[in-house]
Parts: sequence; C-alpha cells; structure tokens
Amino acid sequence: MTTISVSPETIGTTPGPFSVWPGSARPAPGGDVTVGGVSLAEAADRFGTPLYVLDEDEVRERCRTYRAAFPDADVIYAAKAFLCRAVAHWVQEEGLGLDVCSAGELELAVTTGFPPEKIVMHGNAKSPQDLATAIRLGVGRIVIDSTCEIARLAALLPVGTRQQIMVRVVPGISAGGHAAIRTGTDSQKFGLSITDGSAQHAITRILDQPNLDLVGLHCHIGSQVTTVKPYVLAVRRLVGLMARIREQHGITLPQLDIGGGHAVAYRPGEEALDITALAARVRTELTDGCTRAGLPVPHLTIEPGRAVIGPAGVAVYHVLAVKRTGDHTFVAVDGGMSDNPRPALYGVRYAPTLIGRHTSATPHPVTVVGRHCEAGDILADDVLLPDDIRPGDLLAVPVAGAYHLSMASGYNLIGRPPVVAVTHGTARVLVRRESLADISSRDICL
Ligand SMILES: *Cc1c(COP(=O)(O)O)cnc(C)c1O
Repeated sequence: MTTISVSPETIGTTPGPFSVWPGSARPAPGGDVTVGGVSLAEAADRFGTPLYVLDEDEVRERCRTYRAAFPDADVIYAAKAFLCRAVAHWVQEEGLGLDVCSAGELELAVTTGFPPEKIVMHGNAKSPQDLATAIRLGVGRIVIDSTCEIARLAALLPVGTRQQIMVRVVPGISAGGHAAIRTGTDSQKFGLSITDGSAQHAITRILDQPNLDLVGLHCHIGSQVTTVKPYVLAVRRLVGLMARIREQHGITLPQLDIGGGHAVAYRPGEEALDITALAARVRTELTDGCTRAGLPVPHLTIEPGRAVIGPAGVAVYHVLAVKRTGDHTFVAVDGGMSDNPRPALYGVRYAPTLIGRHTSATPHPVTVVGRHCEAGDILADDVLLPDDIRPGDLLAVPVAGAYHLSMASGYNLIGRPPVVAVTHGTARVLVRRESLADISSRDICL
C-alpha cells in the first residue's frame, strides 16, 4: 500500500528505505524528500520543527482500502490514534464512522459536523460526563465495559428513550505487539471475560434494563496484530457466545464489532497485517460459524486506528546536539518524549532518516534521543545514521501519524508541535504549534 516505485533503492527483494513512508514520498534534489508534493526541508523552514506532516491522500487512500476490503461492514476510525477536525472530515467523507473514548473526542467530532449516529463510544471507565455527553449528542452505540456502567447509563437516559449498546467481551486471546497493548486476555483492564462468566452476567443485567437496546458484542484483542488468526479465533468465540445468548435469553444479536489493532510496519521489512486476507478470513469464519449455530450473520464493524493514519504521518526534527561518549553516539533532536512517548512506553522502534543534504559518510550506529530531562527520552536506539551527522541536520521519522500527538504531553513546557496537511504540492496547518502563551493561559493564579 505504501511502497513507492521511483526510488532506485526500492528495487530488489529487500524493502527500500521508503517502504514505510507515505506512498507519495519521493527523493528530491539535495537529499530532500517530498511528501504529497511538498518538500520536507521547506516545510521545516516554513513551519519550524518539531513538525508533523500528514499526507491527506494517504489517509483517504487507506480509508478507501478498508471500504473496498469490507464493503458490507461499518468501518469506523479509532479517533484516539489522532483526531483533529480535518481528520474527522476526511474519514467521514471517505465513508467511515468514528470511535471515541471520551466526551472530548466526541464533542470535537460532533461540533465539526460528524454525524453522531455513526459514532461509537467506548472506554473502560467512562465518566458520568462522558455518558451524559454521549446521550446528549446522540451517539449511535455505547460499548459497555463494566457492570457498574449498566445501571449508571440506564439511569442517565431520558424517560422514553432507548440507547443502542454493545458489550465489550474479552475473548481470551493473546495478540498484539507488547504487553501494554494486548487487550484480548483476562489479565488486563478492558472488557468483560467470557471465561469467568462476567460477560454473560453483564448481558443478563443489561436485558433487565428496558431502555438499553443490546445490539451486539464487541471485542478488541490488541494492537500491532500482524496475523489474521487471532481475529478468526475471536470471531469463533464471539459467535459461540452469541449462540449461548440466544439459547439462554431467546435473542439474536444483529451486530458484531471486532475492533481494530491491525499492525503497520514502522521499519522497512516489518510485517503489516494483510487487510484483504483479514476481510476474507473473517467473512468466511463468520458465515460458517453462524451457519453451524443456526444464527443469521450479524452486521460487522471494524475499528482501525493506526492503520488508517499511522503511515500517513512523518515527524521532522532538527538535530540540536551530537555527543560521542566512549563508543556511543547520541544524536539529540528538538522534540522527543513529549511528542512521541511510544518508544518509552512500549519500546517501539523507528527508522529515522537524514534528509535535506547528501552525504557519502559511512552509516554509523547511533541513539537518537529527545531534549527532555529524562535519560529514558530515547526516540530510536541503535539506528544507522551517517557518520557526519551534525547539529542543524534534519531528521525525518516516518510512520508518525498515530499515537504520537494524541499522546503528546506538556513535559518541560516545550509546546506540542503543529500538524501540517500536505496534498498536491500544498501544505496547510491543521493544528498550530502550542505556544508559551497557550500554556501560560491555563496557569491562572499565584
Ligand atoms: C485502540 C483501539 C482501536 C484501534 O487500535 P489500532 O491499534 O490503532 O488499530 C480500536 N478499537 C478499540 C476499542 C480500541 O481501544
């Protein structure tokens, strides 16, 4: 989906350096790279660094790939990967729904015109305000994640209204790239277990509430899942539960949401989940399983986040310092864990690239670090960069579109970077840089 064909380096069997970049990425004169027809070196000059560049067409293309692979399903974008008003517009225009996990994400989407009926709200601990906002704005579905939410939600609903809900089930499947992002097993905080019967118990409680309209089961087994098998297994277990629900309660659930978690490659050569294979295998399992159980095939929902937006983003930094200590070289850039906490959180590895000048210097192993006051502020450990790397150089980090800025913090009061959309040779600021004025405006009393 993102392989470019013009670069000589991409010819051959090994994936080229641009294989994880947006499909529009092209080498440009002077060692520059263009994305969406926009020079990254010029963008860094114009907007400053750290800078996040988002390829609008890549996001749209990825939405279309999902729509084409899952023509009969609801494809809903997981807003937590990255949400701003423009992204909400793009995914809506491409026919996707939205999944939110807070009143903030929800309100931002709805106030920019996102149809609330195409929004699903979940979260392991929704606040009363989250639920009240969801009801007030009329979200399509709310995913129940714990038994205490059932009565709380039922009590908040205005008399005479009914809310469509789903139940987040833990299918007991271990999948995902790191313990912190494996959500399909019984030993983590999300969902209600099938194994210990909490899911079944919650369903009984829900059916006692006349204003809750249980439309289906939901699961999300984890993130950075590279193979189709865990999804097939999840579908099998959820169909099994649907069959037991029909036996026990005499109801047939019309919907099934199997979440997201589709892996993308962060470095050339890494595996991404094959979406077409996923669609085919899930469809087969769902049809076969339902036929065996004598159930009608439920309407499917999937929730990709990262796979829609991650590979569309590129972070651009300036090198501020190069330090050689013993046999170690540290390359420090003007951002770090405040704009990308992922390496520190779960050891994600990136492929930073020198852009903006040519060099024939030999590649040398270095550690790319941020500018924050923590030794753990490492962006990319043990990566190869030219030996003559120096302050003032530009480093670009591909696959920066998901879970960077949405997880960005105010650490060290550096201010969060801007997001610039590129398409057809033009760049526009979607989200401006956070200034000291923004930060101090919240600091209101001595
Ligand atoms: C995080 C999340 C997603 C998206 O996960 P990705 O790894 O970004 O695809 C989808 N559904 C739910 C419920 C989630 O929590």
